[in-house]
Amino acid sequence: RGRVAGKLALVTGGAQGLGAAQARMLAREGARVLVTDLNEDGAAETARAIEAECGAGTGFSMKLDVTDETAWEDAIDAAREHLGGLSVLVNNAGIGVKGNIETCDLATWRHGFAVNVDSVFLGCQKAIPLMRDNQPGSIVNISSIAGLIASDTMPGYNASKAAVWMLSKSVALYCAKQGWNIRCNSVHPTFIDTPILDGMVKNTGYEKSVVMEKLARQIPLKRVGEADDIANGVLYLASDESKFMTGAELKLDGGISA
Ligand code: NAD
Repeated sequence: RGRVAGKLALVTGGAQGLGAAQARMLAREGARVLVTDLNEDGAAETARAIEAECGAGTGFSMKLDVTDETAWEDAIDAAREHLGGLSVLVNNAGIGVKGNIETCDLATWRHGFAVNVDSVFLGCQKAIPLMRDNQPGSIVNISSIAGLIASDTMPGYNASKAAVWMLSKSVALYCAKQGWNIRCNSVHPTFIDTPILDGMVKNTGYEKSVVMEKLARQIPLKRVGEADDIANGVLYLASDESKFMTGAELKLDGGISA
């Protein structure tokens, strides 16, 4: 029972923040979920929370560094073993990329692209063969509103998230052209209160509540987002309710891009 009953889902970056909320929401709505993260203990904690809420055999976890090709192959094997296949892939893991065009060094730029973009490329490439056996399938790639709207302060984040946006469309068209019912869409959140914002808050030198209020004032709906605002969008894209939607972008941004 549930909106994604019987779906077999792998979520990256599921130890905390948006990924943990997505994994728990998918499980609550009937999916079996393999929670992955660089932080193995955090992923295990999310899987334990899922099992406590949804029952034994609903949540699994493993370490997955999304920049590592071999680790992706192991994760797909684990999906086959623990879930019995794969029908939903959520490429959620991502990081901020510090520095403007003068101050961002090449190593930071490259690491940002590895975690934000290589991850999605590898995830799609490694998952699709197994997803073909479990159609209909859905790939959900977490980009950002920053992949659609530029800022002078974060060229690395802007460019990497724009790459995720366009990569999603290309994968969507490819799968459709092959005649596979594997959809691929991108999600574009604005500021959401998760640990990723803490680094940004720290840089401002202000209290978190002050920064949050300032961010909220920029958003037409007058608040920053909650993790479940994004998880609800991911749930929709993962479910068959969105079965005519592929190659599209879902903006979850309180109206900031309107
Ligand atoms: P977060 O920092 O709270 O969580 C990110 C998770 O990714 C962490 O658990 C971390 O361990 C994991 N991770 C980092 N590098 C990894 C790697 N190499 N391999 C595997 N896992 C790795 O961030 P969040 O806010 O939950 O962000 C999730 C996604 O949403 C990211 O792609 C982020 O860019 C995007 N996003 C977030 C916001 C926001 O305001 N929170 C806005 C727009 C987009």
